[in-house]
Amino acid sequence: MLSVENLSVSYGGLKALHQVSAKVGENQFVAVVGPNGAGKTTLFKAISGTVPIDSGRITFQGQDLADVPASRRALLGIAHVPEGRQVFKSLTVLENLEMGACSKDARDNWAHSLEQIYALFPRLFERRGQFAGTLSGGEQQMVAIGRGLAARPKLLMFDEPSMGLAPAIADAIFEKIETIYRENKISVLLVEQRVAEALENCDYGYVLQSGRAVLEGKHNVLISDPTVKRAYLGM
Ligand code: ATP
Repeated sequence: MLSVENLSVSYGGLKALHQVSAKVGENQFVAVVGPNGAGKTTLFKAISGTVPIDSGRITFQGQDLADVPASRRALLGIAHVPEGRQVFKSLTVLENLEMGACSKDARDNWAHSLEQIYALFPRLFERRGQFAGTLSGGEQQMVAIGRGLAARPKLLMFDEPSMGLAPAIADAIFEKIETIYRENKISVLLVEQRVAEALENCDYGYVLQSGRAVLEGKHNVLISDPTVKRAYLGM
């Protein structure tokens, strides 16, 4: 479904990604882990089209995305739940969710999507008229995920969804992501600081370090890798 080949991205003189290659298959759950500054967010931004790339190729369902702007990538079925939530603070919960329904398919199915989002997050139904800027961190994360779902994506990318949340709230968010993956038959690409959970639940994972993909494999291979165990799983 998604293929990233030899991708390099830099910010001014700083090279954030060096020749990174990765793939996400149909209905596959792929995790990307790595230390702070490894380039995980940059990889997501390059896929969404919000940072320019130096070289390499990104294809989605066989289509080269080189000349496809971010807005069109969303219409093709790529949704990005960004790091730090990035909700529209002065819009209500409902208005934020509506912002996600950008394609014709998403608008045609808006009522159904809204029902699904509220079933997944009853709190958002209760708070539907509240300004998103006044929500708690966990509630804002629910809005960001709901907004992604409202797009009826084929590929849903989550960038550190548990960041800054209390452990119990993070657990709940993580369970919702698994439910979304199971129930929607979509592909999921996840960056997560909770490495153990991310690697246990993914089909396939990549380890990024200093802008390079240094390790990849099926979840059972990664969780038993001595470097991963030492660096990320505290073993
Ligand atoms: P974290 O886990 O801390 O979010 P990350 O793996 O997502 O980190 P990125 O945010 O992709 O890493 O950053 C990769 C590198 O690129 C870092 O060295 C960072 O300082 C740099 N970088 C990211 N965004 C910019 C920017 N807009 N301008 C300049 N440098 C940037």
